[in-house]
Amino acid sequence: MALTDTVPAAAPPAHEGILRRQSLRESAARTYARSLPIVPVRARGLTIEGADGRRYLDCLSGAGTLALGHNHPVVLEAIRAVLDSGAPLHVLDLATPVKDAFTTELFATLPAELAESARVQFCGPAGTDAVEAAFKLVRTATGRDGLMAFSGAYHGMTADALAASGGAQRTGVVRLPYPYDYRCPFGVGGERGAELAARWTRSLLDDHKSGVPRPAGMILEPVQGEGGVIPAPDSWLRQMRELTASRQIPLIVDEVQTGVGRTGTFWAIERSGIVPDVLVLSKAIGGSLPLAVIVYREELDAWQPGAHAGTFRGNQLAMAAGAATLAYVRANGLAERAGELGGRMLARLEALAASHDCIGDVRGRGLMLGIELVDRDADADATGAHPADPRLAAAVQQACLDRGLIVELGGRHSAVVRLLPPLTITDEQADAILDRLADAVTAAVRTTPGPTGSSPTTLRGTTP
Ligand code: PMP
Repeated sequence: MALTDTVPAAAPPAHEGILRRQSLRESAARTYARSLPIVPVRARGLTIEGADGRRYLDCLSGAGTLALGHNHPVVLEAIRAVLDSGAPLHVLDLATPVKDAFTTELFATLPAELAESARVQFCGPAGTDAVEAAFKLVRTATGRDGLMAFSGAYHGMTADALAASGGAQRTGVVRLPYPYDYRCPFGVGGERGAELAARWTRSLLDDHKSGVPRPAGMILEPVQGEGGVIPAPDSWLRQMRELTASRQIPLIVDEVQTGVGRTGTFWAIERSGIVPDVLVLSKAIGGSLPLAVIVYREELDAWQPGAHAGTFRGNQLAMAAGAATLAYVRANGLAERAGELGGRMLARLEALAASHDCIGDVRGRGLMLGIELVDRDADADATGAHPADPRLAAAVQQACLDRGLIVELGGRHSAVVRLLPPLTITDEQADAILDRLADAVTAAVRTTPGPTGSSPTTLRGTTP
């Protein structure tokens, strides 16, 4: 008789069953669930606890949503207050005190020039719906159809938002070069690369034989997030503002990921001083619950009633949680804190890169940070950039998870390890994150052969 017949097998832990059922029942299109096989049951601030009792430092933060981390007391209190008040939770787009308070708080954060004459449209609850609304708005206002967007962009998964994203397969969108210092499309990088990128855009707009009609709008991210944490130089942003303004092309800035203090200013545009015609906002503005809006200059408000409708435009809990989050970030100077702490974390990541050949580039702004992993054994291109190494990046992500650290992957080749911690983390937590990441990079390098399979990626200074 086999041993298994006599000894009752121990029941598998509950979390294993949940994960197994997930893989059997959920769609093949699921994403984070594949690389992060954990079952969160409790969370507070930076920390998530899994059903298996393990604790993790969460630097994914709901893909950059959790400005105040998980279950911040002011957010919970705001949600409880709505629940206890007996207010209706579903109101379509009707006026409520909760919505009124959210709108007031939101307008108080906007650049004065925009706030003076701003209109807000509450959209369906995802960032991608707000992007669609922005396109519809500018198309109606200008009577034009085409759009300009940038290589490496990410704006969402619905039809037009996807068409404006870098991974689009079919598109009526004109694609422009985004200034990517490390992999500069013009082979020069830096301010010069950004200048050439701007020049290309200008020539497309001004050359009557460029084949590019004047578009209804241009959309950009001030720091590309999913594209691999690529901050745009201020001078380039100003040029895009000038180019569009002088040609009556509405400029749409997508701050879905960069907003609410993440990059060191309340809105990322503040650093360059540009004021867009349309701001697309989601993620952190809902204080961890679904909420998306566009805020725009009132001259653009030419669309008809019902032009952009949606059943779930009135999420009262999200508006309360969002208003509390916006107010807390503002009152506690969390944007400045993100800038200052992010600067120190960036310096530590640069030190890490100095001792690890496989880190080709370190970049970021505020608490939106990334390291790009590369194959040093393969030839560098003209600018000195080596090919991206997605396998090593996946190994680093796994090694981080083994060490209780959740990180996101992004970038053109999924070779950028991204950190998006809550803006509320302490210096000690920042150190713990970087200690675990450094340890994970070292471990992943030891165990991952180079993409060619021939040579392991080397630890700079420690291996021949
Ligand atoms: N724009 C940007 C800049 C984003 O980062 C994202 C989401 N990562 C979106 C739009 C789309 O938001 P959602 O996933 O809520 O549709």
